[in-house]
Amino acid sequence: MLKKGNKSYAIFKMKCPRCHEADLFPTGSFEFKNPFEMNKRCPNCNEDFLPEPGFYYGAMFISYIFTGWFCLTFVGILHWGLGWSTGSSFALLIFVIAIFFVWIFRMARSMWIGFNVSYRGK
Ligand SMILES: [Zn+2]
Repeated sequence: MLKKGNKSYAIFKMKCPRCHEADLFPTGSFEFKNPFEMNKRCPNCNEDFLPEPGFYYGAMFISYIFTGWFCLTFVGILHWGLGWSTGSSFALLIFVIAIFFVWIFRMARSMWIGFNVSYRGK
């Protein structure tokens, strides 16, 4: 499934949606260095990663919906499934979200540009 030329490859590897070669972000998601910095253009095919101002507005809804359902499910499983207290369920949730926050933010952007730009190969 995760092969070059496949849309999910570019989205999950956070690659340029047009050529699937270059990275969208200059640093790794779990390096926590410049977490919100994004490359302006693809160094390989010159695809513009910010086609218009406010382009990533829609990505906000992806991360909002994903985070909302994730939080409900996560706390639900810990609290009602495993019998954890509300306090410790939320404490672990905050910890997990703090670690994955940058990854979720970037994945939402990667999905958004991936849905909007199609693969053109070389
Ligand atoms: Zn490219």
